[in-house]
Amino acid sequence: MTDPAARLLEAHRRLCAEFGCPLSYFHALDPLDELVSSLLSHRTRNADSARAFRNLRERFPDWETVRDAPVAEVEEAIAPCTWPEAKAPALQRTLRALTERRGALDLSHLAAMDADAARDWLQSLPGVGPKTAAAVLSFSTMRGRALPVDSHHHRVAQRLGVIPPRMAVGPSHRVMEAMLPAEWGAQEVYDHHQVLMRHGQKTCHFRAPACGRCVLLDICPTGQARRADPFTEAREPDYPAPP
Ligand code: SF4
Repeated sequence: MTDPAARLLEAHRRLCAEFGCPLSYFHALDPLDELVSSLLSHRTRNADSARAFRNLRERFPDWETVRDAPVAEVEEAIAPCTWPEAKAPALQRTLRALTERRGALDLSHLAAMDADAARDWLQSLPGVGPKTAAAVLSFSTMRGRALPVDSHHHRVAQRLGVIPPRMAVGPSHRVMEAMLPAEWGAQEVYDHHQVLMRHGQKTCHFRAPACGRCVLLDICPTGQARRADPFTEAREPDYPAPP
């Protein structure tokens, strides 16, 4: 199978059979909550970012208060995250910029925009990159059609040869989303992200991928190369380490 898009869709088909698509959404947060949650989650384990998010909700009555609080108080609340000293001022900067643009902490206007326009608008906020924008659109109650790419998803795509080995996570969002069938709705795109991410977590590990029990082995150039040459691993690119 030489066409990368065809390989990606075959991987989707097999992994959906393994994980049982359609998959349930794991969040039902409104878009602003999801924005905060996603900003906290960068390079952080899910359980830790969830704890930091809960701390913010318990210590502050609303996001306006988080925005205007002394930064040390926000930093203390999000201490379970990685780099709270950087994330606290960054979160407040994003909330202030949103307030300046919209006159309030409000993302309701996104619902009337198409996915590309909504993604561009979100990415124009300081601190918001392609993954956070896609997470807000896809994971929040908007349930939009957008493809987030985390480090597991990205690593599997690189090993499958559907994106170049040195393509960073940021630019891979649009490249991989463009490979998905236009007729797919939000659920299929969400499933696609979830099954590639879960495959990276359960089988295609950062270190020592379990190629011998992988359902993608016969279509995966990395798996084939590793089987043919035990020293392949030493020549693989440096994939971003997962949190
Ligand atoms: S064959 Fe190996 S490298 Fe390829 S997707 Fe499966 S686990 Fe990852």
